[in-house]
Amino acid sequence: MPPTARRWPIGWWPCCWPAAPWWTPHPSTCAHCEPWATTHLRSRREHLTAMTVAGPVWGIPPTIAPPGRPPRRAEVVIVGGGITGVALLDVLRRHDVDAILLERDHLAAGASGRNAGFLLAGVAENYARAVERYGRTTAAEVWAFTIANHALVAAAAANLDAAHHVRGSVTAALDAAEAASLEAAATLLAEDRLPGVISRASDVPGATCALVNPSDGEIDPVRLVGGMAIPQAARVFENHPVVAVEDGENTATVHLEDASVEASLVVLATNAWTAQLLPAIPIRPVRAQMLASAPVAALVPRPVYAEWGHRYWRQRDDGAVLVGGFRHRAPAAEIGYQLGTTEVVQAHLDAHLRELGVAAAVTHRWAGTMGFSEDGLPLVGLAPACRRIYVCAGYTGHGMGFAVNAARALADRILNDEPLPGWLDAARCAAS
Ligand SMILES: Cc1cc2nc3c(=O)[nH]c(=O)nc-3n(C[C@H](O)[C@H](O)[C@H](O)COP(=O)(O)OP(=O)(O)OC[C@H]3O[C@@H](n4cnc5c(N)ncnc54)[C@H](O)[C@@H]3O)c2cc1C
Repeated sequence: MPPTARRWPIGWWPCCWPAAPWWTPHPSTCAHCEPWATTHLRSRREHLTAMTVAGPVWGIPPTIAPPGRPPRRAEVVIVGGGITGVALLDVLRRHDVDAILLERDHLAAGASGRNAGFLLAGVAENYARAVERYGRTTAAEVWAFTIANHALVAAAAANLDAAHHVRGSVTAALDAAEAASLEAAATLLAEDRLPGVISRASDVPGATCALVNPSDGEIDPVRLVGGMAIPQAARVFENHPVVAVEDGENTATVHLEDASVEASLVVLATNAWTAQLLPAIPIRPVRAQMLASAPVAALVPRPVYAEWGHRYWRQRDDGAVLVGGFRHRAPAAEIGYQLGTTEVVQAHLDAHLRELGVAAAVTHRWAGTMGFSEDGLPLVGLAPACRRIYVCAGYTGHGMGFAVNAARALADRILNDEPLPGWLDAARCAAS
């Protein structure tokens, strides 16, 4: 068994204790190493690295899909089995639409299985910055949209064991400029009757001030995606990479490696990978990295977002502390589809974990690929210059806060011809 495939209990041997000095002896009969090591691991560093799983702390959803082949025709073909694809399949099936989902890997193999599980109102920027960037009306609409998204997630999670909690979130300022911006955000939020208040008594070390949103939440994203897909299991086809999509007058065609499926409509729920299938869609892949510690006593009461969103952390019900971010410390290296973690960013995550006072070993390190749009807002609707190919993607690192409502809005557009808000409509990228 390879070392990365197994998570060992921490702390049986002094060599396992992260706080132990580097010269702590590594016993030759170490119970952690022996079962799988072909040669005994020599150093404590080697040992700790080997005990760390290279993959998300969430695991992967159990396989639910039938081993069979997809049909030759469906009314709607959804490409991508993350939160967007699964939510869209769910809403279309509730309206009896003959829809299927094709996923190249397993469900939640993309960002949906690799994120922090924050369910936050708004975008990466705070409300004051969003008002500056998008205008007040649009910013208010975006916030309302994400609040509605959280309600939809809560409704879906109510029937699932997905560790959904509404304990609020903290956006913490680490310097005076950010504190002033959060104060401005709180004023605007209050005027627009949106949630968020300034708190001086921040539970964040080093914070000068914090904006608390009591209605934000957190979830286990993999249990959410896996659980939402179960009722539609017969319509989900995992391990089916789509190699091309072809737009047509009356039909769109989805090409697989050795077959094709005809559809009235195709929806690309492929977030970071959308431009691989439709190069005209301006969504670029950006990597984000995280780590998780072994369980510790209660420390982080609610998800925290700090330093303009560049670092974030939370604690799961089992006590594991998750830390993510620090992409801004190596921005050029964090572009693209490469899924490996890097020493530079992981060292920042390690240091932050220790600053929080967590001495427990790191059990998981991983990266995921986000889809960034040019204006930071999702692209939903008919793809420019297409007749039958739609997109629902480009969440710019905040898809858990948008995707279920984006899927609902797209379904309304497809089924009832409901217009999409201009800030959401993918048609805007034709003009840019
Ligand atoms: C480390 C990290 C932390 C994050 N933290 C948060 C957070 O706390 N809160 C939040 O709101 N957002 C967060 N995000 C962003 C969030 O995870 C994403 O915005 C969201 O999961 C996007 O969901 P999706 O279903 O649109 O895309 P994805 O989950 O990426 O799914 C796309 C799917 O399409 C499949 N696919 C791609 N190409 C093809 C093809 N050719 N054929 C078939 N299938 C294909 C992929 O395999 C993948 O499963 C984070 C992201 C990362 C990476």
